[in-house]
Amino acid sequence: MADIKNEVVFSKEQKQLIKGIVEDENFSHHDWTKEEQKEPLQALRKYVRSHYRVEQNAKCAYCRKDVSVQAPSNCQIEHIAPKEMYKKYMFYPKNLCVACADCNSIKWKRDTIKPLSTGERRKYPSSSGAFLLVHPHFDDYADHIDIFRDRWYVDKTQKGHFTIGLCKLNQRSMDFGYPEPDEMMVLAEDLRNAKSNGDSYLVDLIKARMRELLDN
Ligand SMILES: [Zn+2]
Repeated sequence: MADIKNEVVFSKEQKQLIKGIVEDENFSHHDWTKEEQKEPLQALRKYVRSHYRVEQNAKCAYCRKDVSVQAPSNCQIEHIAPKEMYKKYMFYPKNLCVACADCNSIKWKRDTIKPLSTGERRKYPSSSGAFLLVHPHFDDYADHIDIFRDRWYVDKTQKGHFTIGLCKLNQRSMDFGYPEPDEMMVLAEDLRNAKSNGDSYLVDLIKARMRELLDN
């Protein structure tokens, strides 16, 4: 089941505010913090943040570390498809979640929607398969990424792989003095292959070895 079960629901007044912003002829992604609507937008952001913080059990959508439960600085509203590329989805409930400050800034504005082979998407995709990353509204994180020792991320799928790279999840641990578990990375690759081959015996063996390494 997807990590986020209930998307944020806007009130009539909030919908009016959003409509006014997106229908303005000069609408741009900068209007997320539009000066002329400073206070109502601040209130709207607070509402979105509070909703997803609860919905995500105060965990970042990408690294699963704690986000701040009170202050907004380490519980940032994250546009899953970046607002710089997809301003039309800037207030779209399924495109919003919360992330820690690191994931939010490292992920930045890289595209997360798979391109269509022909033409352009007219609507926000409604299923997991259209996204490159682990999407908290459509995916169960644990289906795509295993986390060992709260620090090492091992991909189980392509989406998991993309998300780990997108937010540099392992790189961040390496940069701060945690030795890279070389064998772990090789095992991670083997694990992915064993899974795609449906070899459950090998999967169990590899997982056992990974746990052994991490316990040493
Ligand atoms: Zn994070």
